[in-house]
Amino acid sequence: MFLCLCGAMELMPFSDFIGNGETVRRLREMLASDHFPPAVILAGAEGAGKYTLALMLARAMNCLERPTQQAAGRGTPSGGATTGKTMTDGVMSGEPASSQLPDFCGRCSNCTRIALAQDLELRVAEAVEARENLRDTDKKETRIFVQTHPDVLVIPPDPPQLMIKVDQVRHVIQRIYYRPAEGRESVYIFTSSAFMKEAANSLLKVLEEPPKFATIFLLTENPGELLPTIRSRSMIFTLGALPSAEIEGQLVQLRPERNARQRALVARLSEGAMGRALSFDLEGYVASRSHALVMLKAALGAGDHSELFKTTESYRPGAEGREKIESLLRTLYLLLEDLMCLQSGAGQLVRNTDILGELQKMAQAADFAWVQRASEGLGEVERGLRRNLLRSLSLDAFATALERA
Ligand SMILES: [Zn+2]
Repeated sequence: MFLCLCGAMELMPFSDFIGNGETVRRLREMLASDHFPPAVILAGAEGAGKYTLALMLARAMNCLERPTQQAAGRGTPSGGATTGKTMTDGVMSGEPASSQLPDFCGRCSNCTRIALAQDLELRVAEAVEARENLRDTDKKETRIFVQTHPDVLVIPPDPPQLMIKVDQVRHVIQRIYYRPAEGRESVYIFTSSAFMKEAANSLLKVLEEPPKFATIFLLTENPGELLPTIRSRSMIFTLGALPSAEIEGQLVQLRPERNARQRALVARLSEGAMGRALSFDLEGYVASRSHALVMLKAALGAGDHSELFKTTESYRPGAEGREKIESLLRTLYLLLEDLMCLQSGAGQLVRNTDILGELQKMAQAADFAWVQRASEGLGEVERGLRRNLLRSLSLDAFATALERA
């Protein structure tokens, strides 16, 4: 029945979630059994899909046309074939039981309004801008929330400290004991586990006596950041890293503008996180990497110094240059890791596959001790940044010290 109503791409929205099929299935099973836990910790790396999944579950909880167990058997679920997408997560394909799992239609008024919260960065920026336009006295007392549906409240870390603050949790407490206005279940999504101490303690009080009609999602890259007492009152689900081959395969359809070489590179650099692969700034990365290569080659005694100084000179002081040098350092670490892989005969783990030949030459010129010294040198540059040393000079010092050694 459900299958006949909708357009091809909107048939089974949970199947749009890439990877971690087993975790998604368990969550949907709990939804089907009406034993969904009041507090769920969704753990996973940045870009693993925690927020996407929480919003999908919020829609499944509140969809007005949600397919129920009774609907099972009347439709003919055929997984990937009906959606026209490559099914790699195994959620729907070839599992008869999966047709009984709750899903969401993606087009009813609850689904569409909840989906408006999907672009979290944009929604938060809007809320921050709205706060900026308030009178000074109101500004101080206004906390950042994202709400596109009356029953789904998203609580992001509040700038500029980027922590969840006690006033945000108080706001949740004020609302959470009221029944949902338009949906079946009210949903609260904390998008970070960086809680101020008082905020965490307040949240704990809610978790001690949660209302039956509310669900709290706590998203975190590291559950260890949450109070043990919060963890023990929640159920933890982890979104694991996807194999890079799987990400590469998904990118064929989702990023067709990239060529095969670029897709292979992005897949390896996104460390198993589909969200990172989709939003990966490849051009920015390649720019950083060309600088990193100039530095490493100079440090290996192979490059010329005028090029080194020209490159490092572009790393200027000030807030603007911070991101640039941070991305350079990340890239340098990645290249050193690749060199280490090559030296230890684990070439299949190299991430910068598109410059393999170049890396192999460098790996021959450097020995293991050199790579280790380079890593230590980068640590030194990082410490220098915190002490506000001149960035260009720190980078020159890094390369020349390695060269002498
Ligand atoms: Zn719906």
